[in-house]
Amino acid sequence: MLQDKFGRRFHYLRLSITDVCNFSCEYCLPDGYQCDTSRDFLSLNEIKRIASAFAQLGTSKIRITGGEPSLRKDLPQAIRACATTPGIKQVAITTNGYKLPEHIDSWVDAGLTSMNISIDSLDPRMFASITGHDKLDVILRGIDRAIELGVTVKVNAVLMRHFNQHELSSFLQWIKTTPITLRFIELMQTGDNQLFFDRNHTSGMPIKEQLVSDGWQQIIRDKAAGPAQEFSHPDFAGRIGLIMPYSKDFCASCNRLRISALGKLHLCLFSEHGLDIREYITDDDTQRLQEELTVLLGDKKSTHFLHDGYTGATKHLAMLGG
Ligand code: SAM
Repeated sequence: MLQDKFGRRFHYLRLSITDVCNFSCEYCLPDGYQCDTSRDFLSLNEIKRIASAFAQLGTSKIRITGGEPSLRKDLPQAIRACATTPGIKQVAITTNGYKLPEHIDSWVDAGLTSMNISIDSLDPRMFASITGHDKLDVILRGIDRAIELGVTVKVNAVLMRHFNQHELSSFLQWIKTTPITLRFIELMQTGDNQLFFDRNHTSGMPIKEQLVSDGWQQIIRDKAAGPAQEFSHPDFAGRIGLIMPYSKDFCASCNRLRISALGKLHLCLFSEHGLDIREYITDDDTQRLQEELTVLLGDKKSTHFLHDGYTGATKHLAMLGG
């Protein structure tokens, strides 16, 4: 099992398979993806080798992400490659869900177990203004189908002062009867979004305080839990999570490694350099990879430096899959 000097264990891999995205979210790619046809994204074969190498090093969960992973035609094959790898117990995806009703059955058939979908507003016009796409209805239909198929669904909403800060009550109404986990994510500063960040960053703490005073109970986290603080309420089918990267001890529960679509391994969303993983997956021998990761993890910092405005080489999160 991969472990760092702070005792954090890494059984969870976030694997980006493209950095292309069709949405133009205000906080991420406001001018849309700038086309670069020379990009050499991980092939299906490389995805298989990565899944197998990391499974041998103790990874049990892989999240396929992007960019927008569903823009890749071979996404079902990528899901299947991960799901059929011995040792991999969960295969998840993070998607904008723009064609979800069309895709979800084939993803589940390939072995998908859980899905994170980004919905920053439940008001169709606001949704379109944030993302550049009038797709809210389609995405909501896709979520209903995913629930029917037994997929664990989490919805991510990035908190933004001037866009969705007033929407807590409509989100709450939705999860009264919808069994999903809705996670509010504090907006993070990246290399490209500084002005937007300054205008729109708002803390999740007031939401937490309101939930607690309305009788929501914080769920005790299990060891494998992600970075969200989660809450449940007996009158609601769904749960609420808060992801507060600027809160104290946020990084203490870090349990993930990231691989970019260009095959660079990053220990943190906000790291400067990545290890070129392609060099280490040319055959089935994981010895060199294990040695290299052990050295790298020995150097992993206890926390990101976002509080100091340090965003590393991360210009926007589509580069690394959020
Ligand atoms: N295209 C997929 C999607 O829309 O979910 C996957 C990639 S997207 C970069 C992953 C997640 O990162 C989304 O939930 C998105 O809202 C979130 N995200 C992107 N930029 C962010 C930022 N600056 N701060 C907080 N969350 C961000």
